[in-house]
Amino acid sequence: MMPDAHTRLVFLLGDPVEHSLSPRMHNAAFRHQGLNWVYLAARVPADALPEAVRGLRALGAAGANVTLPHKQAVVPLMDTLSPAAEAVGAVNTIVVRPGDDGRPRLHGDNTDVAGFLAPLEPRAADLSGQPMTVLGAGGAARAVVYALLRAFRPARLTVVARSPERARPWLDAFARHDPDASLTLASPQAARDAVRASRLVVNATPAGMHPHVDQTPWPYPDDFTEQHLVYDLIYTPERTRLLREAAARGAATLGGLDMLIGQAAAAYRQWTGQPMPLDVVRAALRTGS
Ligand code: NAP
Repeated sequence: MMPDAHTRLVFLLGDPVEHSLSPRMHNAAFRHQGLNWVYLAARVPADALPEAVRGLRALGAAGANVTLPHKQAVVPLMDTLSPAAEAVGAVNTIVVRPGDDGRPRLHGDNTDVAGFLAPLEPRAADLSGQPMTVLGAGGAARAVVYALLRAFRPARLTVVARSPERARPWLDAFARHDPDASLTLASPQAARDAVRASRLVVNATPAGMHPHVDQTPWPYPDDFTEQHLVYDLIYTPERTRLLREAAARGAATLGGLDMLIGQAAAAYRQWTGQPMPLDVVRAALRTGS
């Protein structure tokens, strides 16, 4: 469908944005569903973020995604926040909705939480109450920890940080989402027993991501057995060194592509009111169309 005077606009705000797969996913879905919508990537430097966000209102945009480095800086610019965005302290999806006075309001959500959980849903019964480990303590780790606490109430949830002093403040702040006091912070050296005992191990570090495909966030592959599910948030490459080494020891594995699609689907549903056509999106990612 050719864009015209009725076209609804959704933007990606980030810096850089050139490598993002989001325009491909969303535009393929709009096209397939015959929606007169367009998804555009806008490179927004940090000092222009407030102006760009105000512009969403002024232009009558339907919404936006927010990516690095703006996910946290955009939080105070929202009119309302979802519980997930508030807990994680980061927004990756903005929905523009009319307020009671008819003027546009900006609602911030964090769909990385729902996206992360989507591929775990079929295994929920198996994961509930089990010990778990998250490698890394950055922005993605916060979304993962919040999701795991909410969805599975793990017996123990160990966050492995190479710089524990940086992770301590947010872990302490997460205590209110952790009624069972299951959260523990550990250095990589001190976390081996926790990893061995875990049912689920999540990589939320960039170690192993293209072009550093020879790296791994866990240099002790013999810690993995058939009892483990190892979930790497990285999606380039689809099979990281971590996943290959874990699979070789009998562990089940999950890559980051389903989370990428899951977070997009959760945003798409809020903007358009439609379910994202997942097979179409998967095919668009494969073929690059
Ligand atoms: P981030 O905020 O920069 O945090 C990265 C974390 O990993 C930090 O705790 C950092 O420790 C640690 N780290 C960095 N390099 C490491 C290494 N070589 N070994 C061990 N730890 C290391 O990044 P993020 O936004 O959380 O993203 C993390 C990963 O998740 C990225 O690969 C990203 O692509 C992926 N991700 C995927 C999806 C998806 O949809 N599949 C969504 C979000 C993120 P320090 O603090 O000590 O540097």
